[in-house]
Amino acid sequence: MTDSIAENLRRVQDRIANAAIAAGRAPGDITLVAVSKTKPAEAVTAALAAGQMVYGENRVQEAAGKFPPLRAQYPLSLHIIGGLQTNKARDAVRIADVIESLDRPKLADAIETAIARENRTPKLLIEVNTGSEPQKSGIARDDADGFINECKARFGATLTGLMCVPPHGEDPRPHFTWLADRAARHGLPTVSMGMSADFEIAIACGATWVRVGSAIFGTR
Ligand SMILES: *Cc1c(COP(=O)(O)O)cnc(C)c1O
Repeated sequence: MTDSIAENLRRVQDRIANAAIAAGRAPGDITLVAVSKTKPAEAVTAALAAGQMVYGENRVQEAAGKFPPLRAQYPLSLHIIGGLQTNKARDAVRIADVIESLDRPKLADAIETAIARENRTPKLLIEVNTGSEPQKSGIARDDADGFINECKARFGATLTGLMCVPPHGEDPRPHFTWLADRAARHGLPTVSMGMSADFEIAIACGATWVRVGSAIFGTR
């Protein structure tokens, strides 16, 4: 497992670099977020040993079990990328370096309170439900501008970008292009988009972070 994770990481890094170059971008401008959800701490340790320091987890509880012990050994960065319940906001603020899934005013309230209580300030991304899928987290497309402005006023430079997960089975390009354009209009530097199946397309469309799970850690 350890060998194949290191090997998979190298392959994904090569593909990121090639996609960046093809798009006329610098490979170093794209950060790989390795999504380790459902995978054991040993898998993360293997990736850490191979030099991968940025991780994404969907569930706060799972992340809280896996990552704090590893922090003692590695200068890792942990991103919460899954839909977040308000009652998990405090735990998220305690353990995460980035919360990518800020998507509603009530959660912004909970995160603001948690930042004050924990005296710890993770970077924030706003997740947009670009495909208007009812079951999916993310602020509605039509409400995005208002919510972004509200969060900028509230969190200042702590708000660094936007994130999306396009509808499964659809061409992701219009979603990726929309998100990159929206981030640029708001002067937000980070655009988190693209997963195992489509990260090269996301890079062509302007992603600065790609979130890749199964291409590194295997199928779930
Ligand atoms: C699981 C997940 C990923 C990674 O998906 P893969 O297809 O395994 O690369 C990326 N982003 C989010 C929000 C996820 O939930």
